[in-house]
Amino acid sequence: MDKTKIIDGKMVSDLIKAKVTTEVNEIKKKNHRVPNLTIIQIGDNKASSTYIKNKKITCEKVGIICNVLTHPETITEAELLNIINQLNHDSTIDAIIVQLPLPRHINSEKIINSITIKKDVDGFTPKILGNLMLGHYQLLPGTPKGIMLLLKHYQIELAGQHVVVIGRSNIVGKPLANLLINASATVTVCHSQTKNLSFFTKQADILIVAVGQPKIITSEIIKENAIIIDVGINRDQDNKLCGDVDFENVLPKVKMITPVPGGVGPMTIAALLENILYLYYQNNNF
Ligand code: NDP
Repeated sequence: MDKTKIIDGKMVSDLIKAKVTTEVNEIKKKNHRVPNLTIIQIGDNKASSTYIKNKKITCEKVGIICNVLTHPETITEAELLNIINQLNHDSTIDAIIVQLPLPRHINSEKIINSITIKKDVDGFTPKILGNLMLGHYQLLPGTPKGIMLLLKHYQIELAGQHVVVIGRSNIVGKPLANLLINASATVTVCHSQTKNLSFFTKQADILIVAVGQPKIITSEIIKENAIIIDVGINRDQDNKLCGDVDFENVLPKVKMITPVPGGVGPMTIAALLENILYLYYQNNNF
């Protein structure tokens, strides 16, 4: 495998984690309150439990406190709103995540919107997304931020490049497309209703894929020397973790590519850690 083509998200995220660890140690040395994250889990969705466990382990490794509040699936929307309201007003709480998906009887949008922007570490509330669109960056959603940091680390030029983003979710595709536009890229966004997807993918200098379908991108439908960012997290027939891109198949043709695992995933976590610290400093006048 040509390792020079691999965009190493794990390595870049380790650099960010080291920086966060140093900052947290400085905070501790000054005997200031330690930064913290509160994750609310409703029910016992297996995938959610894994994501939460990983976030908790990562936070604790860098010295950030992570508290997980679990509540049964039977919790009402009003009860959950009340819990969030209490956390919003607790000056010792820095950052809040409500782990999605929520049970059907709860309106996820209403719940996410109830988190104060001062603690919205995921950056999913309308005000943060609105600021992002306008180019006023304070805090950015984890995955788009992680991807932008990765592109920056590898000094990948965006101005004037044709970037094709596949996927238009509120947490990945849409915010990412806006960040790319603001970085002067020419951006095309594709989705499930796009006709003739390969017409667009073949034109991409940089192709960012956030679909959630294994091997939807093959070498036949990409441009020679393209840079590929694979956001997807899937399981293949052998239950092995894989992205949306047929990695082995496209590797000879690309200029650079992110692997799965070890590409965008670790960067999302690194961005989350940076966001927790950002909120901590905003909420405390040190
Ligand atoms: P969503 O399911 O919310 O969005 C998927 C997007 O892909 C939609 O916009 C959908 O179009 C589009 N799509 C679906 N099928 C096709 C198709 N055949 N051709 C073109 N577009 C298609 O997913 P997310 O954005 O939340 O996540 C996408 C992937 O990224 C998932 O695998 C997820 O696990 C992964 N992920 C990884 C993260 C990481 O840290 N690495 C973080 C977040 C997500 P439409 O809008 O029309 O339905």
